[in-house]
Amino acid sequence: MSLHSPENVFRCCLKALLPILKEFVCSHLKRHYGSRYEERLPRPIADLDTSAFLGVAIEHWGAVFRDHVTGDVKTHLFSIKDVRNRMSHDKVVTDEEYQIAIGTIRIFAKKIGGDKATTTIDSCLPQLPGPAIDPRGLTYGDVVNKEVYCPACIPNMVFKSWPMGWDAHAASASACRGLTETGPEARKKEFHSRFAKLFP
Ligand SMILES: [Zn+2]
Repeated sequence: MSLHSPENVFRCCLKALLPILKEFVCSHLKRHYGSRYEERLPRPIADLDTSAFLGVAIEHWGAVFRDHVTGDVKTHLFSIKDVRNRMSHDKVVTDEEYQIAIGTIRIFAKKIGGDKATTTIDSCLPQLPGPAIDPRGLTYGDVVNKEVYCPACIPNMVFKSWPMGWDAHAASASACRGLTETGPEARKKEFHSRFAKLFP
């Protein structure tokens, strides 16, 4: 498994989330239960990992958090914990599910810790080698005529002026390794439909 496999990035994000989540959970518990809030924790604070703090937040949600935090935070708590549990019990978690969970951790961290928290999480994400734009999640208007990574095989190919040259690149199985179809026409079709938002 490569260093930057989605699973490894997810594990790194979980670790990076710990101090942010700990501060969030403890400050709310303290507000609600007072200075002896630590008695409410399942184990001494130093022994709790990210998953344990997610569990504490879920367990005390109704009493402590619900009236002070927006409901989407709870949804994030559950979805991060679900992927983490499946991973640690050797259940199948797809790369796409890891990618979504990584995105959820970023949003969650920003909600509870602000922009500084997002920067901490981003330190886990693979650094792209150049200044070109990562187009994943963007639309045509964001990237037209700009220097853009191929969304399928990032970071292996950069288009100097999007979308110029996309079809020749997508058609060639040796050039773009991020597609699954085999014939040139089928590959172009796959590229165009998977990244339809990047076309006018
Ligand atoms: Zn490509």
